[in-house]
Amino acid sequence: MTKVPILIGEHWLHPDAAQAGPVHNPATGEVIGRVPLCGPAEVDQAVAVALQAFTAWGSTPPPKRARVLFRYRELLEVHFEEISRLIATENGKTLDEARGDLRRGVEVVEFACGIAHLAKGEHLPRLAEEVDGLTMREPLGVCAGITPFNFPAMVPMWMYPLAIACGNTFVLKPSEKVPLTANRLAELFREAGLPPGVLNVVHGGREVVDALCTHPAVRAISFVGSSPVARHVYTTACAHGKRVQSAGGAKNVLVVLPDADPEPTIRAVMGSAFGCAGQRCMAGSLLLGVGKAADPLREQLLAAMDQLPLGDPLTEPRTGMGPVIDGRARDRLFGAVAEAGEQGLEITRDGRRGLPEQGFFVGPTLLDHTATQHRVFTEELFGPVLALLRPTSLEEAIAQTNQLPYGNAATLFTESGTAARQFALQVECGMVGINLGVPAPMALFAFSGWDQSFYGDLHVQGMEGVMFYTRQKTVLSRWAGGFRHFF
Ligand code: NAD
Repeated sequence: MTKVPILIGEHWLHPDAAQAGPVHNPATGEVIGRVPLCGPAEVDQAVAVALQAFTAWGSTPPPKRARVLFRYRELLEVHFEEISRLIATENGKTLDEARGDLRRGVEVVEFACGIAHLAKGEHLPRLAEEVDGLTMREPLGVCAGITPFNFPAMVPMWMYPLAIACGNTFVLKPSEKVPLTANRLAELFREAGLPPGVLNVVHGGREVVDALCTHPAVRAISFVGSSPVARHVYTTACAHGKRVQSAGGAKNVLVVLPDADPEPTIRAVMGSAFGCAGQRCMAGSLLLGVGKAADPLREQLLAAMDQLPLGDPLTEPRTGMGPVIDGRARDRLFGAVAEAGEQGLEITRDGRRGLPEQGFFVGPTLLDHTATQHRVFTEELFGPVLALLRPTSLEEAIAQTNQLPYGNAATLFTESGTAARQFALQVECGMVGINLGVPAPMALFAFSGWDQSFYGDLHVQGMEGVMFYTRQKTVLSRWAGGFRHFF
């Protein structure tokens, strides 16, 4: 069984933490590791080392920083399959999904390789008589990232590659449920030539998070996880004077119009609702079959769900869907399905039945005749449970979508450009898809949730990520003539 270390500077340490938690292989239920549940002492150590490393790293020329990132990118490619297997082992997603998880992360490293261009400022000669103006973007100092279990590679990589490319040093606190991938990613960054102390990794839960959010030397917090914790992190870290980007949970909507092309639509809906066992913040969990679209959609979906084999992603190559993360998640999902049945929803396909004997499995589940007052309409379940609603028009579908407290993503399936345009303009959420099951922006765009899906203003990834991890300085210079006030 692996005893998971933390990374402080150049040392992998086993802290004398009072407690340690289990790391599972969710497909078998087996405990494969013990993760230390650190506290303020380890956070102090990590932040002190990061602060010390900032002096040199923050003033390293950006093209030189980029060279380390280029080498890191190559190492990630060399170890791509090994890391993908690690993701599948501790998270339970299929190998293809694990490869996608890592690929999206590598794309952020590729984006960050362009830092010398991305972090350039602006210049205006002759802002006034004899006065020139310029701006420059400078790193903040020590930044911290707190991440969820569902993307062990991609979500941490939304943060530390860009923060570090910008000249900051970093303390990563990955989910205690999936610490192994984060450690391997950090190890390879060191191997690529990253100086000690620029990236540090501490493990644990609430205690470590609170210590990071209140630590006086931490300048910025990036968080991704559930909405209640996102709100807690945002309010705590803001109250302690930090800049914060805090992404929360979601309830994403898939709207299907009668004119949608059936075959690609079903494929996209299946991938969105049941990919990664529904444990994506972009997972479609509400399916709005508009008018005549609903009945055929339901029949085609049921047929596709029968063709989705559950199994261990590592030992059964045909596996179409892996387990959920742990026994608590499985029991919570079983409870939500039971409650939906009690509330009068039709459990059209029941994912509580016909499951593998070992591991934390939940089968694909379809709940029909959902209405906006049902709990499954507003509450994020975070599992392979899809609720079907039957609005009579596109306008009604948009109105239902806009009732949700979250503002993450919504997709429309249609052949009509007019409907697509209306949807994109009127739907109130930060990420819109047209004929796409998972409209997740790639590294070049910001991951732009709204409302309870995001607290803060500058989102992760893209230019907003560069802005978040740098602060602007404006310099006005007069080099000609004598001293005069110019305004
Ligand atoms: P979580 O909120 O339980 O945990 C996220 C992180 O917060 C972990 O590192 C955890 O250790 C820490 N944490 C947990 N409880 C805490 C507390 N009370 N105080 C302080 N820290 C705490 O989330 P999860 O179950 O790991 O991940 C699933 C959630 O993440 C879902 O809600 C999903 O929608 C969301 N998510 C959002 C995005 C996005 O971009 N919006 C992306 C991925 C996942």
